[in-house]
Amino acid sequence: MSAPGTTEPSSANAGYLRIATEEAFAPAELLQRWRALMQRGGNLDPGFVDQWGYFLGESPRAKGIAARLQEIGAQRIRDMDETGIARQILSLTNPGVQIFDAATGTALAATFNDQLAEAIRAHPDRFSGLAAIAPQNPAGAAKELERGVRKLGLKGAIINSHTQGEYLDDPKFWDIFAAAESLNVPVYLHPSTPSPRMYAPFAERGLEGAIYGFAVETSLHLLRIIVSGAFDRFPGLRMVVGHLGEGLPYWLSRIDFFHRANVASDRYATVKKLNKKPSDYLKENIWVTTSGMAWEPPILYCQQVLGVDRVLYAMDYPYQFIPEEVKVTDNLPISDQDKKKLYQSNAERVFGLGA
Ligand code: CA
Repeated sequence: MSAPGTTEPSSANAGYLRIATEEAFAPAELLQRWRALMQRGGNLDPGFVDQWGYFLGESPRAKGIAARLQEIGAQRIRDMDETGIARQILSLTNPGVQIFDAATGTALAATFNDQLAEAIRAHPDRFSGLAAIAPQNPAGAAKELERGVRKLGLKGAIINSHTQGEYLDDPKFWDIFAAAESLNVPVYLHPSTPSPRMYAPFAERGLEGAIYGFAVETSLHLLRIIVSGAFDRFPGLRMVVGHLGEGLPYWLSRIDFFHRANVASDRYATVKKLNKKPSDYLKENIWVTTSGMAWEPPILYCQQVLGVDRVLYAMDYPYQFIPEEVKVTDNLPISDQDKKKLYQSNAERVFGLGA
């Protein structure tokens, strides 16, 4: 499978394939449209302007990442070969089509899913993909997810956290959860910059992005979904989050303790009793990936508290295209069997890659 001149030994020799599960792409048309939005100005999401003002700018790092985002062919496969990655699960980069009006976002999701499916058809042994959807049109998003899975062979949905400041715990979005559950595919809840209502305190110290703001935004979003009772309504719904659960695995006992206390008190009209403890949903409906978190202690911790069947490998290409980080994962002090789960078999199961 590896190209000549590859610097990494094939992971097949080690008894597993490395499947990277949170790998980004962005068609040139998407970047063009984002650029046009920013040029037009107006009342845009400040996190979007901050992130894409940078990545569509002139710095060498930004230009390198923007170029790699647009390429889903030979160059990407060379990069994968050089880092020993057998397969990427591709998804439209943040904020995808969620920044556009509902009609534009819905139409663009279909266009980009068709382009993704074409790249996968060209390299079926190297690429899989998740469907982009536009939650700002929930029924249309559910339909596009169904088309993406049934017609295009995509393996789930990618949602880049808040949609214009709104979160998926609002039942108006639950057509999407119903579709994912009935199609038996996961929803990958990928980070975005903090939503407009909480952006400023992060940005004032440069904390709005991958350094911390992404994790706060996304863990808040997932916790809102959990305590809303969405997983009681859709018990078969599977969600995947990156960055080792965006911090939530560290909080399980405290969240359970205070959720119980809040349900018992009459302080909160919006806190409802759930069928299970919040941590149970994190252990039964959620899988976490190692994207951007190539560090032994939290990977082992997540395997310990969530289970070795619930932690998946991700690189976060091209944002975190750092070949040495694969070695960190290769060198984890776990059995070969558990390493195969981390790199390969958990991803195959959660995303239905054999199907
Ligand atoms: Ca990412």
